[in-house]
Amino acid sequence: MTVMKVTLLGTGDSPGTPVIGCRCRTCQDARKHGWQRRRFSVLIQTDGKNILVDTSPDMRSQLLRLDIDRIDAVIWTHCHYDHFAGFGEFYRVQSNVTVYSSPEVHEDIARFMHFMSYRRLEVEPFEPFELFGVTITLFDVTHPPLRRAHGLVVERDGYRVVISGDTNRGIPAESIRLMMDADLLLVDAIAPEGYRLKKHMNAGEAIELSKKLRAKDVYFVHLGHFYPPHRIAVKKYPLAHDFQSFTFGEGSDDLSAFF
Ligand SMILES: [Zn+2]
Ligand SMILES: [Zn+2]
Ligand SMILES: [Zn+2]
Repeated sequence: MTVMKVTLLGTGDSPGTPVIGCRCRTCQDARKHGWQRRRFSVLIQTDGKNILVDTSPDMRSQLLRLDIDRIDAVIWTHCHYDHFAGFGEFYRVQSNVTVYSSPEVHEDIARFMHFMSYRRLEVEPFEPFELFGVTITLFDVTHPPLRRAHGLVVERDGYRVVISGDTNRGIPAESIRLMMDADLLLVDAIAPEGYRLKKHMNAGEAIELSKKLRAKDVYFVHLGHFYPPHRIAVKKYPLAHDFQSFTFGEGSDDLSAFF
């Protein structure tokens, strides 16, 4: 029985791919072949419940695509537009959604969400909490200039999924310890190696981190148009794609993969 299903609703960086107005090879390829990378959000399904990690500005089309009727909980990783701005998309059809994050991230996002009411639940990083049988633990990452940003560990029945969140390579040691030995690691790798980045990791840094963490399976997320067109880049890098899903539990379905 499948105990948990994790679906990547969006694997893009903040402008998404194709980037509006960009004529680079990758953006042109995306237009020509009809693929795209929506903004970042992950859907965790367990016991008939839907948990969202981040609420991307592409939320409406992402939820319609999967025919998701309701959201049972939201977790915000940090206060960047591409991670929270889509909250209003289902707020219109559903009220009293509970949102989990650290006090600092809640406070920062509340400045933008002052016209909405939602149940704000403050959780401390490194202190696990339960959501519908799933154990969630936030940890701190480093995403300047933000004062606080998080990744998270998602666990159920011995399965461990680690989501790095938006981070540069300077992840605190306490977080590294928590990120070890994942069955699936979804890691920020916004650009190929060689790009020097302050806020994110490049592919080389992401690979180095994955090895250190001894993850069984690794996919790059939060991808920018800096990579070659997807079908070419995917031969060299473990790039995830939108709506890719992973199931955990006995007799799990095969990985479903489609655009
Ligand atoms: Zn982001
Ligand atoms: Zn481009
Ligand atoms: Zn960010």
